[in-house]
Amino acid sequence: MRAVTVLGGGIVGLTLARELRRRGLEVELLDSRSIGTGATGAATGILTPPQHARTPFYQLRTRAWQMWPEYAAKLSAESGIDVGYLRCGAIDIRERTIRNPQRELRKLRDSGGRVEVLTRDQIRQLLPDLVRSPEAGLLVEMEARIDPLATIEALRRSCHGAGVNIRENLGPIRIEPIGAGGITLVATGDIELSQPSEQRSVILAAGWESVSAALAVAPSPLPLEPVPGEAIALDLAAPAHLVHFNLLREGFRDPSGNRSIYSWIPAPGGGSWLGNSVASGNRVDRTVGDPSSDAVEPTAEGREELVEVARSIFGEDVESRITGHRAGIRPKATRHGGPLLGRWPGRPQLWVATGHYRAGLLIGPATATMVVDSMLDGAPIPEQFQLPC
Ligand SMILES: Cc1cc2nc3c(=O)[nH]c(=O)nc-3n(C[C@H](O)[C@H](O)[C@H](O)COP(=O)(O)OP(=O)(O)OC[C@H]3O[C@@H](n4cnc5c(N)ncnc54)[C@H](O)[C@@H]3O)c2cc1C
Repeated sequence: MRAVTVLGGGIVGLTLARELRRRGLEVELLDSRSIGTGATGAATGILTPPQHARTPFYQLRTRAWQMWPEYAAKLSAESGIDVGYLRCGAIDIRERTIRNPQRELRKLRDSGGRVEVLTRDQIRQLLPDLVRSPEAGLLVEMEARIDPLATIEALRRSCHGAGVNIRENLGPIRIEPIGAGGITLVATGDIELSQPSEQRSVILAAGWESVSAALAVAPSPLPLEPVPGEAIALDLAAPAHLVHFNLLREGFRDPSGNRSIYSWIPAPGGGSWLGNSVASGNRVDRTVGDPSSDAVEPTAEGREELVEVARSIFGEDVESRITGHRAGIRPKATRHGGPLLGRWPGRPQLWVATGHYRAGLLIGPATATMVVDSMLDGAPIPEQFQLPC
């Protein structure tokens, strides 16, 4: 193989394109819209380290967490754009932590950093903007954040500078099977595409929309579930740490019963973000295989939820402090909880890298290395991440 076509210009496609080009391949990156208009452009940039390294997914997260400081520095140097890596730590005032901080502290014993219980007075001092202070919480050293939009721009510039051919606004590109083991790329409009061959592989890295892009290629549909999420920007001064909490009055739950965790995030540039961890807004409109070519718009329902959450911690007049609102669909792999990575069964020219769910920014660079090592050197990918035959 001499060349690779990457479908999708989110964090996953871009980190793959950069890695492949660094390893000497000819790389083309195709996006149906503009780069960064999928989930990556809506993300809030939290890098959460794993609590242990006992499963392949948690090992991947550990590797990803360890990679980020150097990755951020290299990317900033290559592109001239500061990607905003900040090891800010977090204050955890989720309900279960308030109820039993010692138990949550024990869970973070192996996190590799300092964790300490906070009293109500300490929380009040650290978070003076909160209208009420919970009686206990945790200060967790090992959390960081990046600026997702700056990261996308830095990756674009780095890829472009290294000679990746980036083509945008092409409309959805589909993968169709040919014969027993081949594939072809099909565009909606009148667009010339380099076709897969023995010398050119394709990596499907189109986030949640990977489902519709590969609907015709068995095994299909991909085991992915859409989990919409939204975030609002606030002109409240950035907290010194990330803050994780639940809605104090009435918790929002996803269909599987998970309670949303909300995060208040120091945004680069001085303001802050507030985002949710489970579905909101668009959740009822998306069906498997929906070949939508539109970016996901923020919803009134999603905004209402976040305003209610913001009021519960900052007080009544917070709505006037909202300066932005964004939304995206997180691609959740339903099979093993980790991402879907590796060669497509029965189609040797096709590879997949999606299903990064809530951790695409954290694990994107590490999954790129894993997939490229497998493509070029035959390094094994854990069975848990591979597509079922
Ligand atoms: C509100 C919110 C907050 C989040 N916060 C965090 C966080 O703090 N930390 C974290 O690690 N993760 C976070 N995430 C999750 C993270 O955003 C995702 O895991 C990650 O962005 C997925 O990246 P991706 O490249 O797979 O997909 P995407 O970013 O969705 O990119 C897919 C790209 O493919 C293109 N595309 C679609 N169909 C086609 C096609 N047929 N052909 C060609 N191109 C196509 C799209 O235009 C898009 O550019 C958050 C997500 C949301 C929604």
